[in-house]
Amino acid sequence: LLAADGSLAVTIFEEMTTMAAACGAINLGQGFPDEDGPGSIAAAARQAIADGANQYAPGKGILALRQAVAGHQQRFYGLAPDPDTEVVITTGATEALAATLLALTGPGDEVLTFEPFYDSYGAMIGLSGATHTTSPLRAPDFQPDLEHLEEAFSDRTRVVLVNNPHNPMGAVFTRQALARIVELAERHNAIIVTDEVYEHLTFGVEHVPVATLPGAAERTITISSAGKTFSFTGWKVGWLHGPADLVAAVRTVKQFLSYSSGSPFQPAVAAALALDDGFYDGIAAGLRQKRDVLADGLRRAGLEVFVPDGTYFINVDTAPLGVTDAVALARRLPGLAGVAAIPVSVFCHGEGAERTRSLLRFAFCKKTEVLEEAAARLAKLP
Ligand code: PMP
Ligand code: GLN
Repeated sequence: LLAADGSLAVTIFEEMTTMAAACGAINLGQGFPDEDGPGSIAAAARQAIADGANQYAPGKGILALRQAVAGHQQRFYGLAPDPDTEVVITTGATEALAATLLALTGPGDEVLTFEPFYDSYGAMIGLSGATHTTSPLRAPDFQPDLEHLEEAFSDRTRVVLVNNPHNPMGAVFTRQALARIVELAERHNAIIVTDEVYEHLTFGVEHVPVATLPGAAERTITISSAGKTFSFTGWKVGWLHGPADLVAAVRTVKQFLSYSSGSPFQPAVAAALALDDGFYDGIAAGLRQKRDVLADGLRRAGLEVFVPDGTYFINVDTAPLGVTDAVALARRLPGLAGVAAIPVSVFCHGEGAERTRSLLRFAFCKKTEVLEEAAARLAKLP
C-alpha cells in the first residue's frame, strides 16, 4: 500500500477528486452520480432515524434487508439464498470484498482477477497475503481471453475474482465467457467471488449473474451494493450471498472489520430493493442517453471511444492526440481543460499498465448539460 516513492498511497479517486475540486474542474473521475436516488428512499432513511433506528444493527444486517436482498435475487435471477444463513449486509461492496478475501485466502494462495481490476482488489489481496495473478481484458471489446484464462489458473488458485459488468472497462461478460470461468473454477476447485455492483447498469445486453450458471452456486460468493443501483453511493450499504459455509467464514471476519453499519439506511435500502420494474428499467434507459452524449462529445474531441455495454464509465484512447502517458495527462487535465478523468493503467500491474498507458476513463453518471460542457472543454484541448 505504498506509492512508488515509498509514501503512503492515496487512491486515484481521492487524488483526482481533490485535484478537480482545487481546479474547479468537472469531475468525471470518481464514479458517483450528480443527482441523488429516489426521494421516497431518502425519506425512508429520515423516517428510520425518526423512528429510532440509530443504534447498532445486527452484525449480519437487519432481517428486513437480508430478506429484501434474497427477494431481489429471486425476482431478477431466480436465485433463492436463505436470508438467515446465506446473506450478509456489509459496509458497501468494499467491505464485502475485504471480508471475503481476508476470510478465504492467505499466503500460498493465488487470487486470479482480470486486468485492469478495480483498485481495492489489489490492495485487499495484498493485505490477505495471497498472490495476485491476472488475465488481460483487451481492446476493443474487453471480454475475457479464454485461452489466456485457462493458463492463468493453477492448482494454487483459491479464488477467481470476477467483476461483471466491469469497472473500469465497461464490458458485460458474455454467458459463454462466464460459463468457461465456472468450468475452470470447478476444474481447479477454486471459489468464485463475483462483484456485480453494476448489475442493473447495462445497455441492451443481458447481465448474467455467475451464480445462475450450472455448477456455480455452490462455489460462488456474489457481492453487490445499493450505491450504483439507487444512486446513493455515500450510504455504503452492500451485501453478499453464497453457500452457508463460505458465508459463515466471511461473516466471522466481517464482525471485526465494522461489526455493522448504516442502521437507518438498511430499512431504506430494503424499501429500495422492492421498487417496481418501472424504476429498474428507468436506471439503464437514463444512463444510456448520458453514455451516448459523452461518447459523441469525446469523439468530437478527437479521441478514440470504446462504447461500454454497462457501468457508468467510458474509456478513450488518447493516442490519436499524440499522448503516450495518460497518467501524466490525467494529472494535467483538470488545470488544462477543466475536466478530471482516471488513467486506466492505475488499475493494472506492469505489463497491463504498458498495454493501457494511453487510456483514460470518464464517468458519465452526470447531468446531460454537465457532460456537454465537459466535452466542449475537451474539444478545446490544444
Ligand atoms: N466494486 C466495484 C467494481 C466498484 O466500482 C465499486 C465502486 N463503486 C465498488 C466495488 C465499491 O462499492 P461500494 O461503494 O458499495 O463499497
Ligand atoms: N467505484 C468508484 C469508481 O470506480 C470509486 C469509489 C471510491 O472512490 N473508492 O470511480
